[in-house]
Amino acid sequence: MSALPSHLIATSTSELQAALRGRVITPDDAEYDRARTVFYAGDDRRPAAVVRPTDAAEVARVVTLAREAGLELAVRSGGHSVARHSVTEGGIVLDLGAMKALDVDPQRRTAWAQTGLTAGEYTTATHAYGLATGFGDTGSVGIGGLTLGGGIGYLVRKHGLTIDDLLAAEVVTADGQVLHVDAEHHPELFWAIRGGGGNFGVATRFKFRLHQLDQVVGGLLLLPATPDTIAAFLAEAAAAPEELSTIANVMPALPLPFVPAEHHGQLVIMATLVHAGAVEAGQRAVAPFRAIATPIADLVHPMPYPEIYPPEDEDFHPTATSRTMLVDAVDHDATEAIVEHLAASTAPLRVAQLRVLGGAMARVPAEATAFAHRASRFMVNVAAVYGRPEETAVHEAWVSDFAAVLRNGDARAYVNFLGDEGQARVREAYPGSTWARLAAVKRRYDPTNLFHLNQNIPPMSPR
Ligand SMILES: Cc1cc2nc3c(=O)[nH]c(=O)nc-3n(C[C@H](O)[C@H](O)[C@H](O)COP(=O)(O)OP(=O)(O)OC[C@H]3O[C@@H](n4cnc5c(N)ncnc54)[C@H](O)[C@@H]3O)c2cc1C
Repeated sequence: MSALPSHLIATSTSELQAALRGRVITPDDAEYDRARTVFYAGDDRRPAAVVRPTDAAEVARVVTLAREAGLELAVRSGGHSVARHSVTEGGIVLDLGAMKALDVDPQRRTAWAQTGLTAGEYTTATHAYGLATGFGDTGSVGIGGLTLGGGIGYLVRKHGLTIDDLLAAEVVTADGQVLHVDAEHHPELFWAIRGGGGNFGVATRFKFRLHQLDQVVGGLLLLPATPDTIAAFLAEAAAAPEELSTIANVMPALPLPFVPAEHHGQLVIMATLVHAGAVEAGQRAVAPFRAIATPIADLVHPMPYPEIYPPEDEDFHPTATSRTMLVDAVDHDATEAIVEHLAASTAPLRVAQLRVLGGAMARVPAEATAFAHRASRFMVNVAAVYGRPEETAVHEAWVSDFAAVLRNGDARAYVNFLGDEGQARVREAYPGSTWARLAAVKRRYDPTNLFHLNQNIPPMSPR
């Protein structure tokens, strides 16, 4: 809730509308309910306004007004925050969704991208030049939140995290300054925004490195899921050439058109494979996965890279709960636990997502960016997706118990998949000296913690 009386909030939002070319959407607008909606369902917070600036100068005005008026600020790019951080009760949602400019330099293989772009939009646009930057597994995720937390996707083993291709950024800080940030200018801030999330300011533009990538051998492979097939899949994924990154969702098979009816509801490995290299090498790299068991469906084929992001239903808003972890082993006990836990859940959709890491991601020194868990061999996410909010307690208990078994005492986490799990858990994303270094950068650029609706790193207290 804002500390301001409502007539002052109204004054602030009408001041904003007068000062901006961008839209200021308030509760009286017909679009208000759609504008405050985020990806995950079950959030009824009502901001005083959703503001859609058109450039960095307008973002700076919104930041300044929120700070001066004492209004809580939620920053949103694609709205996919797992912890539901991109909406506020009574404050301002700074929605970058109108800022989608992309300026590609095909000679230098770089692109300046405004942060309202989604991963899918960016990927489709750069494909026109036969070039790509790696993001995550879902086209509708915003490049804003994904990049600031790290970015783990289909090119992670070949080209590293998304931040490993981040060359510079334009950042609006809490005092309303628009900064150019790179290895030479504000180097500590540049280090911090590569993994430290939205703690330090509003990123309005990113400069990315692009890689030559036209076609990939990629797509879905469905295999029956047993403890042995899961273990075999992980072993093959770890042994595969770095061109191949995989995301394996162990889950009950959905009644999709390409899944034979007898498998609907049965436990399967629904994996997406992406080989970012020559087609023949890709076919060779995929062959061992096809040999694990007779595939239930095999949609892996040479395709233009953006096809890896199929069209999505904008009105899909799941109710879900999840846990994330980074671990070094998923052994036979773990693959057995995966099958047992998935069989025991009553959620209509439940999943254990297994990602084998390594390759280019692991070669960047831990201290080079704020994403320090470089050496982790696997990322595992477990989730329950369900219809009725009153079931939440049951599914919460299930994900929590499931994650504890797989984690096996290992506390490491990737910040972008954390839910609202408390500060101790945020710290586990930032091991060793990383946390203190981030807190020092926070003190310098956001001493009053204006940007606190995030996986928060409070400013280091003055000594
Ligand atoms: C379906 C789904 C699939 C996903 N897949 C992957 C994946 O494959 N790989 C992966 O790495 N992650 C993945 N994620 C996690 C994702 O990276 C994070 O949820 C990320 O924060 C979403 O970014 P967003 O811009 O869409 O979200 P938003 O909700 O808009 O933003 C999330 C938070 O990021 C900060 N933020 C966003 N934009 C800015 C900005 N421009 N400036 C400053 N702060 C900002 C804010 O703190 C905000 O609260 C997935 C999430 C979902 C829901």
